Amino acid sequence: MDQLLTDAVPAEWEQLSSRYSAALREKVSRLAQTHKRELADFFYGEMMRDKLAAQFLSHEQVKTRLHASMQDWICDLFHHGEDRDWRAVMAYQSRVGDIHARVDVPMHVVLHGARKLKAGMAAVIARDGGLADAERYEAQSLVNAMMDLAMESMSAAYASSHDRNSRAEESYRLFSVAQNVAAEKERQRAALLDWENQLMFEQAMGHSASQLPKIGASEFGLWFRHKGSHAFGGAPETASIQNAMQHIDEVLLPLGSAAPMQDGAARLQHLRALREQAKTIGFHLERLFEQHSELESGRDALTRLLSRKFLSVVMAKEVAYARRSNTRFAVLAIDIDHFKSINDQYGHEAGDLVLQQFAALINNLIRAGDYAFRLGGEEFLLLMVDTTEEAALRVAEKLRKAVEREGFRLPQERSLRVTVSIGMAMHDGHPDYMRTLRKADDALYLAKSDGRNRVSG
Ligand code: GH3
Ligand code: MG
Ligand code: MG
Repeated sequence: MDQLLTDAVPAEWEQLSSRYSAALREKVSRLAQTHKRELADFFYGEMMRDKLAAQFLSHEQVKTRLHASMQDWICDLFHHGEDRDWRAVMAYQSRVGDIHARVDVPMHVVLHGARKLKAGMAAVIARDGGLADAERYEAQSLVNAMMDLAMESMSAAYASSHDRNSRAEESYRLFSVAQNVAAEKERQRAALLDWENQLMFEQAMGHSASQLPKIGASEFGLWFRHKGSHAFGGAPETASIQNAMQHIDEVLLPLGSAAPMQDGAARLQHLRALREQAKTIGFHLERLFEQHSELESGRDALTRLLSRKFLSVVMAKEVAYARRSNTRFAVLAIDIDHFKSINDQYGHEAGDLVLQQFAALINNLIRAGDYAFRLGGEEFLLLMVDTTEEAALRVAEKLRKAVEREGFRLPQERSLRVTVSIGMAMHDGHPDYMRTLRKADDALYLAKSDGRNRVSG
């Protein structure tokens, strides 16, 4: 469905060029270009009157940046060019939709803004002396059509981003708050077995197909359909389990009452087929839990730190918390220096040992409310809650020194010196957490180019 929509849209964009004359499109493009500042002002003013929208926009940074990006967006959307790359125009809308989802601004607020902007364009068109009466109507119709298409692309991206985010959140909740994957695994394994036992029993009693317990409706099936499939969302095993459950309920169980079933051999074969499917489910379930059990809470298998998977969930939570409580948090982007040469000189296992000991150092240094992530390879990220710039820099420096002093232990009593570079950034209240991450990354880059083994921020 989504695919159909995204394929269909460029054609509609292209039709705009045939439905409206080049001269008209040129005029609208010029109007947008000339009045972009005024339109951005008007948009911002209108949005600030809305209480909900104001929550997302009142930040000073948003105001300046939104102004600039709003003007870009207006110019790009209405830009007139004979062979415009409509896919690129759509991709632009998708990017904006992704940002909206990340910032968690509700879609109806975005649509509200689009409506205001249409009204703003209408005012500009009405005022402009260069348009004949008939043209005004055509111009507004073109503006409306383009805005509607843009909103369609934006909403599609918004919806799928939002879906991804809620899935990550759901699994964060399941694995981090419940924090007991092992118990869940045992419970679901037992539930699956219960269903199988019950089925065998009912079959042995000679009950008809309609009386046989459906796996989809069993304790296990309910759990899997509503929670498990979300928690493990995206893993191929999830689809395999769903298929096997469907096969059991829609194909195998109804067969149970078919005439040939009276025949002993056919019955046995039927039982075997059921058994086979149940085993398949058990096998995939085991794999899913295995892949996720190291996490217990989305933890990285080697270092037991949080994995990247939950970075967006945690960042979004902390941005919202900072907004509510008027506090600030800091992000430290950490990268081990010349790690490749450690691997090259001492081997990959030595590298792994360094990573583990480094993670232990981090854990000793941070407070209970802070978060430590391993983003991948030798890249780490600390999120320090409720802090100030001075305190965050102090911790960063303390960590840098602790690493520098540490003798990292290798097998056979050998030890190794390691250094790290750290980039620090404070969350400045901007609702898009990607900005804070990028700032920390930029600072890290500086620390590296300034000679490594240092803190920058
Ligand atoms: P720089 O000071 O610029 O950060 O140099 P670097 O060598 O640390 O950076 P680079 O990104 O070039 O190399 C990172 C290396 O980390 C490359 C890769 O072989 C290694 N690596 C990534 N993941 C792992 C892992 O899980 N274990 C081990 N032992 N090495 C890893
Ligand atoms: Mg690196
Ligand atoms: Mg490195």
